[in-house]
Amino acid sequence: MVIMIADRFETFLFDLDGVIYLGDEALPHAVDGVNRLYEQEKQIRFLTNDPRPTREAVASRLRELGIRAGKEEIVTAAWAASAHLRRKEVATAAAVGSEGLRTELRQQGITVTNESPDAVVVGADEQTTYADIRRATRHIDQGAQFIGTNPDGAFPTPDGPAPGAGAIVRAVETATGTSPTIVGKPEPLMFEVALEGTSVDQDAVVIGDNPATDILGAHRAGLTGVLVADEAPVAASARDFTHPDAVIRSLAGLFSHTVTPWDNPQYSWPEDIRPGVGAVVLNGSDEVLLLKRADRGQWALPTGTVERGEAVSEAISREVREETGLQITVDRLTGVYSHPKQQVFSYPSGETVHFVTNCFSCSVDGGTLEADQDEALDVGFFDTDRLPSEILPMHPRWIADAVEDTNVTIA
Ligand SMILES: [Mg+2]
Repeated sequence: MVIMIADRFETFLFDLDGVIYLGDEALPHAVDGVNRLYEQEKQIRFLTNDPRPTREAVASRLRELGIRAGKEEIVTAAWAASAHLRRKEVATAAAVGSEGLRTELRQQGITVTNESPDAVVVGADEQTTYADIRRATRHIDQGAQFIGTNPDGAFPTPDGPAPGAGAIVRAVETATGTSPTIVGKPEPLMFEVALEGTSVDQDAVVIGDNPATDILGAHRAGLTGVLVADEAPVAASARDFTHPDAVIRSLAGLFSHTVTPWDNPQYSWPEDIRPGVGAVVLNGSDEVLLLKRADRGQWALPTGTVERGEAVSEAISREVREETGLQITVDRLTGVYSHPKQQVFSYPSGETVHFVTNCFSCSVDGGTLEADQDEALDVGFFDTDRLPSEILPMHPRWIADAVEDTNVTIA
């Protein structure tokens, strides 16, 4: 039996702009699609990163379009920030932003004050001034928690882009040297707050038009993400967190398309991307240099990270020398690799790093082969046609690219 998206989930989290409406106009099939879900007694939430309007204002706008949304079904970044503070039992907060933000804070039972507040919520609007940024800076300097409603640096207007709350949040971040807790998409907090009060959060799906906020945020929160677009975006790989689980042209697609739910892979979205280097070192007999890595117990090419102020060729020469004792000549670049699963590493600190690795074909210049005790259990040269079975999964391909192909591989 084929299960359509509408039948597979109990809870639907809709982005608004670009999914339900565009400007003042409802998008084709949006009103019908949402109302059909209401008839099937699905749980529905509407999410917007815009921190300025109150939930009631957003709900009444939807009702004007013909969607019977209630205030309690609306999740704005300002409301989500306020709900987050209430969950954290914060009693007082200063606000940089709209009257809507202040209203949402008060409705969560939080006193809005500039007298030693427990928290500062930055959700800037068009009236935000230097004095507001200074005020937020001083509160945070005196120990107030720093909350940013949403990370958006800019939002579109008919006259061109306008600075968003994220631009002001970063001004305060720069002034204080303190990182904020950001609530809006693509942070998972927005979705966690949105799912409060719904029954079965595992059965929730996010429907949005922006891979970098809606789909990335859904996946970071462990939820399935459906993109509303004319065609699928080009992604590096199906494992990319911004890659949607299904693409529909309009909300009518909820009733005619299937989806493979997000499978929650065991790596998290990397906090950092770093330049890596790898060496395919060949000897005179066309054998390749491998070392048995102490941390994983698997055979691997010599690899490492480009240090500050270092050329990539210097970096790979240094890594090979440190790990194996050999001096090498770097002959040519054979590939640039950025596999979004195999080259994502999580460290015991919890930090997750994605490496983009420049791989070079190299030849031996001198030195004595000897494993560095900290890094490698063993080193040796192997016939490229008979590699050991316990080898890091991406390295046979890197070797094949270096040996067989005179063109540089970019993958
Ligand atoms: Mg949108």
